[in-house]
Amino acid sequence: MLKSDFTVVIIGSGFGGQCAAIECLRNDLDDFVILERRKFIGGTWSQNTYPGAAVDVQSPLYSLSFEQYDWSRMFAERDELKAYTESIFNKYGLSNKTRTQQNVTQVVWSEETKLWQITVNGNEQLYARFVINASGPLSTPVTPLIEGQDQFEGASFHTNDWDHSIDLKDKNIAIIGSGASAAQVIPAIIDNVKSLHVFQRTPHWVLPRWDIVFKPWQRKLLRVKWIYSLLRTVIYWLLEFRVLGFKYSRFILGLLGTRPAKRYLQSTVNDDELRQKLTPDFTIGCKRIIVSSTLYPALAHDNTTVHDKDDAVVKLTNNAVVTSQDKTIPIDVLVYSTGYDATDGIISYSVEGRNGAILSNVWADFPRAYLGTSIPDFPNLFIVTGPNTGIGHTSAIFVIESQMRYIMNCITKVVQEHKSTIEVTPNAEDKYTSMIHSEMEKTVWYDGGCDSWYKSKSGKVIAMFPGFSFNYRRMCNRLNLNDHIIKD
Ligand SMILES: Cc1cc2nc3c(=O)[nH]c(=O)nc-3n(C[C@H](O)[C@H](O)[C@H](O)COP(=O)(O)OP(=O)(O)OC[C@H]3O[C@@H](n4cnc5c(N)ncnc54)[C@H](O)[C@@H]3O)c2cc1C
Repeated sequence: MLKSDFTVVIIGSGFGGQCAAIECLRNDLDDFVILERRKFIGGTWSQNTYPGAAVDVQSPLYSLSFEQYDWSRMFAERDELKAYTESIFNKYGLSNKTRTQQNVTQVVWSEETKLWQITVNGNEQLYARFVINASGPLSTPVTPLIEGQDQFEGASFHTNDWDHSIDLKDKNIAIIGSGASAAQVIPAIIDNVKSLHVFQRTPHWVLPRWDIVFKPWQRKLLRVKWIYSLLRTVIYWLLEFRVLGFKYSRFILGLLGTRPAKRYLQSTVNDDELRQKLTPDFTIGCKRIIVSSTLYPALAHDNTTVHDKDDAVVKLTNNAVVTSQDKTIPIDVLVYSTGYDATDGIISYSVEGRNGAILSNVWADFPRAYLGTSIPDFPNLFIVTGPNTGIGHTSAIFVIESQMRYIMNCITKVVQEHKSTIEVTPNAEDKYTSMIHSEMEKTVWYDGGCDSWYKSKSGKVIAMFPGFSFNYRRMCNRLNLNDHIIKD
């Protein structure tokens, strides 16, 4: 009889993988391994090194609820987030449990052995009873195909894979994309470059960021556990309030979103033509709101030219971008800030469940999962930050911790009762998914008049959970046995 190498295999070492590992330790499941495809641990905040990288949710909330940290500012920058991640790895001894440069290329279920076979780097096999996929919704970057791309002789890279060997000083830069990462890169580099051409398909709504560098006395106060928890709670509820606007009241959205955003644009960008280009034609919130007090001044900088969709990149030559208005713009460096496939491409490797069920076929219409986590015919498999678990208004880590409650309830039930598998019923998954998409129709992500990365090719919103995050947590808290099949 084939034996498992591990009880649990965790794929990915970001906050999802870290939380899964910590919960395994807490539940006496220390027979697990984390597989990480990169040379380094840590996920998002180790990978994204682009200038200006920072979180856009207040750090006391964008952190593990049980791991308080001595943050230097309200919105931590990348280095501090990386240091936080490393402190988690050290505290829980996760480095010894992590294997880097282990790219999972396939996972296949065996009904005979009741084990998952995990193929790593295309050849090596591991066997595990449970798989927790924490490969990250925003982990595999998307780069568009552009005519003449191979002829371009300058440097080009995605924000996700910033090339620090290239000195931008006095260079002509083009950046394609104007979303959250571009909004951080642009202000961070503008003073250093000779020219910056920003190619935006659509402008985003922008609200100012009220960042605070904590003073020593504030940090001292925040080291007191209850004060830190109080701040975290206040931030949580202030952010949760935004759901009222995104889902239930366009009046509130207008009052607290559109009006301040318009006023902010009006007061920071004087040039009428530029202001016109930067005014979105969709409802605020439909795409992720950019929270930045430095973006508009950088876009209005003398060195910056903003190109809208009527002047898009159509071609590259050896040293220039050619636009749809037939302008040839010489550039030295091309930065792709073109995002990720957070919907149809959530899992980048092949997953084969019971009776040869292939996940990409099951998801051919659109990705779906019970609590965004489990799928019929894929027993003992759990997806962290899976379909419809994204949250546009609060911290992704809150959702990850919620999912962990459900996942651990499932795994411990099977292990402690000496069962072999747990699997969601097709009926429960179907009911859950129908509820999600019917609720979604009330949201600005569905009918806010934009085409965003929240939507899959089906047109359905897949990257977001349509409601309050505390409702999602409530559903994750208790394992509903009627929704699952547990086998001996
Ligand atoms: C630039 C950026 C800024 C962000 N800012 C915010 C923010 O302000 N607030 C917020 O709530 N969220 C933000 N996010 C979303 C962020 O993805 C989540 O907050 C969180 O970090 C997700 O953690 P994760 O562990 O699920 O994914 P990740 O941190 O992406 O970790 C996934 C890991 O899995 C590994 N992996 C993937 N595929 C495989 C494979 N086949 N085999 C082995 N390993 C694999 C990856 O290499 C990666 O290390 C941001 C994301 C990005 C990219």
